[in-house]
Amino acid sequence: MPQNPIDWHARAADLQPDGRLLIDGRRCDAADGASFDKHSPIDGRRLGVVARGMAPDVDRAVAAARAAFDDGRWAHQPPAARKKVLQRFAEKILTAREELGLLETLDMGKPIRYSIHVDVPAAARCLAWYAEAVDKVYDEIAPTGPNALALITREPVGVVGAIVPWNYPMIMGAWKLGPALATGNSVVLKPSEKSPFTALRLAELALEAGLPPGVFNVVPGYGHEAGEALALHADVDAIGFTGSTRTGRRMLEYASRSNLKRVYNELGGKSAFIVFPDADDLERAANTAAGAMYFNQGESCNAPSRVLVHESIADEFVQRVAALAPRFRPGDPLDASTEMGALVDESQLRTVLDYIESGRTEGARCVTGGNQALQHTGGYYVEPTLFDGVRNDMRMAREEIFGPVLCVIRFKDEAEAIRLANDSPYGLQASVWSHHLDRAHRVARALRAGTVHVNQYDEDDITVPFGGYKQSGNGRDKSLHAFDKYTELKTTWLRIGP
Ligand code: NAD
Repeated sequence: MPQNPIDWHARAADLQPDGRLLIDGRRCDAADGASFDKHSPIDGRRLGVVARGMAPDVDRAVAAARAAFDDGRWAHQPPAARKKVLQRFAEKILTAREELGLLETLDMGKPIRYSIHVDVPAAARCLAWYAEAVDKVYDEIAPTGPNALALITREPVGVVGAIVPWNYPMIMGAWKLGPALATGNSVVLKPSEKSPFTALRLAELALEAGLPPGVFNVVPGYGHEAGEALALHADVDAIGFTGSTRTGRRMLEYASRSNLKRVYNELGGKSAFIVFPDADDLERAANTAAGAMYFNQGESCNAPSRVLVHESIADEFVQRVAALAPRFRPGDPLDASTEMGALVDESQLRTVLDYIESGRTEGARCVTGGNQALQHTGGYYVEPTLFDGVRNDMRMAREEIFGPVLCVIRFKDEAEAIRLANDSPYGLQASVWSHHLDRAHRVARALRAGTVHVNQYDEDDITVPFGGYKQSGNGRDKSLHAFDKYTELKTTWLRIGP
């Protein structure tokens, strides 16, 4: 029997998200009672009220996290016990899939099909994977002389401040929570003011799963208030930050002005997608570039926002992408068939339209799109946009647009492709399309990027590190390497001989 499709609008009408802080296992208002209204980018309607966390609220959350860490209620539990709790947490996320997916879509505008089938399962898988990894990371014994033994143990850093953006609120939260909680830390999470609701719900699910109160606290609020207070806090041991390069710079300043806490930045990108004339399947390359660029409305740090195409095939490539664009026409994010949803807010809409205008002014050619769409809804939509004739020194090629704008830059030969790809302050990801493995390998090696894809762009897994070179950040999320960010290495010398 085919199931009736879910009426997401009816469900949305019933939803009453709770925007209060969650500190020490309890919901509470901001100390001074401040709050702000959160509207949905889908249609502008008021979604709910969010507590406006400030320094006193951050103080309370950090104190709760510190107390939880110091008394060992989580850090001193055997790894197998922590594993069980995190596994239950992941299961609860999956059980709440529809509620969380709907909340994420209403909060930041992405299509419901992706919230439900990508974001929720990815967050759950991340936590389940780190749960499994808890007891797979062993301490070491160093090969020293016969009279002494040196143990190298991995210990939690203590209190972790996690500050995350609005484009993948749950996944970005899970990428910090998974390795930080698995290794026994306490966490204070500051979600973006533009998408605070799912983080707060995650913290409730964690409590239901058995995570002791105080181990995972959430303080919603603005960056310059709650975010700054958290990053400056002298009792926070490490900051796991994901967001813009501009704010990442601030994180380093805050650390230097306070306690030199460890700062791990995951920042912006301007990823190059390089198509050589010997690429086997131009249609697949065009499809992959368009799919990856327009996914999440282009609001992805790793979107292939500079598509470098050899001049001999560029006309054909551009035609193919232009023919695909209608498939990504924005639609109602609560309609299960919609491919592209709403931008997160009006300011993001203005930013994207401004970059489109800059492309036109600087002499690039807008092949398709380039306009706002669905104005009658009261939401913030932009057509899938394609520019040809972009030069690497144009603003739209140098700066992160963070919207559905695919820019084609033409190149003459391999050396020029490598030079253009690396000529960027960013270095998050790249893709190389060529039939010849030797060329693909040679170019992949020459690219200064944290991840290079060959003849594809969409493979991803929690087992591999994610992060960037240059101003795309330091440190890596995902994989066992993320444990390095949330643990200290301690050496203990034991005398065992005379
Ligand atoms: P943002 O830097 O404006 O904000 C990110 C977070 O930092 C938010 O929670 C915000 O409230 C907070 N913040 C802002 N100003 C602050 C301040 N002065 N002090 C302390 N906290 C502050 O970024 P955004 O617009 O939310 O997110 C988009 C950016 O995130 C893009 O640049 C994107 O590339 C990047 N991003 C990177 C990755 C990655 O893994 N490399 C993943 C997703 C997004």
